[in-house]
Amino acid sequence: MQVLATIDAFRQARAAYGPLGFVPTMGYLHQGHLSLIARARRECGAVAVSIFVNPTQFGPREDFERYPRDLERDLALLAREQVDLVFVPSREEIYPEGFGTYVSIPAADEVLEGAARPGHFRGVATVVCKLLNIVQPTRAYFGQKDAQQSIVVRQLVRDLNIPTQIVVAPTVREPDGLAMSSRNSYLTPEERQAAPAIYRALCAAEQRYLAGERDGEALRQAVIAVLDAEPLLRPEYVSVADPLSLRELEQVGSHGALVSLAVRIGAVRLIDNLLLEPVTTA
Ligand code: AMP
Repeated sequence: MQVLATIDAFRQARAAYGPLGFVPTMGYLHQGHLSLIARARRECGAVAVSIFVNPTQFGPREDFERYPRDLERDLALLAREQVDLVFVPSREEIYPEGFGTYVSIPAADEVLEGAARPGHFRGVATVVCKLLNIVQPTRAYFGQKDAQQSIVVRQLVRDLNIPTQIVVAPTVREPDGLAMSSRNSYLTPEERQAAPAIYRALCAAEQRYLAGERDGEALRQAVIAVLDAEPLLRPEYVSVADPLSLRELEQVGSHGALVSLAVRIGAVRLIDNLLLEPVTTA
């Protein structure tokens, strides 16, 4: 496993490989990340992982400074997964003095995470675009956990003709249903105990959907009822939206729906989602 900190060194090392699978991360790795790496390993000849806590996707009052970091542990995990190339650039390597080009997707800023976190997707799109240019992967792997991010990345790659195939892989959960996230490490034991209500709330909407409910607001209320029963959770938004346009739905139709939410637990903000698959009536 080669660990490279500069763009020049990474490019030189990358030149020795043909098809490459790429998993961009912000580090503090967990099974969610490792599932993407395992999939890349199965599907591509070689695997590259980046670890970069991207400052431009954090708002001024967000957790950039205290975002959890443990490079030594991350590298040990990646070595065990037999990752070929690890890119660990500094902030200055990615955003040198004079940096001034950003990629923005205005439509993404209007809904869900984009509306809740102004500038977030501009930061995501910019860094993903740069990383794809640097790494030049055949395929890049993203998690369904960050559903809107996957949609933004697919659009970025399509609009800018980036020759990388985007693969979106399922959310990996703890046994109690909590979606794995580096930010779970912020939770106090009490908050951690309350957190699985997030997944239970999503499942409540799914149950109603499978029982035939198609009214968007009824499905939203099914989520909210479970969240409200847990005093430590403060919902920020609950959405039942078209899975591609992310527009809120009055009725779930032939595309199914993405049920997604953001909640605060103490000082921690968590997101999760569940896809309601289209029901085909034969
Ligand atoms: P992050 O380090 O949080 O930026 O995540 C890096 C990649 O891992 C992103 O594509 C995430 O969507 C994905 N990811 C994060 N958590 C999970 C999870 N629990 N299951 C699957 N993928 C995940």
